[in-house]
Amino acid sequence: MNKRILKQRLIAQGFESTYITRNGVHPVCDNCQAIVIQGLATHETGCSNRKRECEGCSNLIPIHFRVCDDCYGEWIFESGRDK
Ligand SMILES: [Zn+2]
Ligand SMILES: [Zn+2]
Repeated sequence: MNKRILKQRLIAQGFESTYITRNGVHPVCDNCQAIVIQGLATHETGCSNRKRECEGCSNLIPIHFRVCDDCYGEWIFESGRDK
């Protein structure tokens, strides 16, 4: 994969200080010691930069949200059982 595209993707996933090296792309999160597991950059448990996929589409959104801004208007929230 193109390194610059991969870097953009990692930044979208919360690895804001990701940089390109001679050998590849090095994911860096400002809020945790990001690690790479089987080729996938991963935040530490509890990192506030973690992202998840929107439940209405595939946008990446902060971990504590359920849907992105685009889907928010259409989404009916459940009564807050999960945090
Ligand atoms: Zn992190
Ligand atoms: Zn969405």
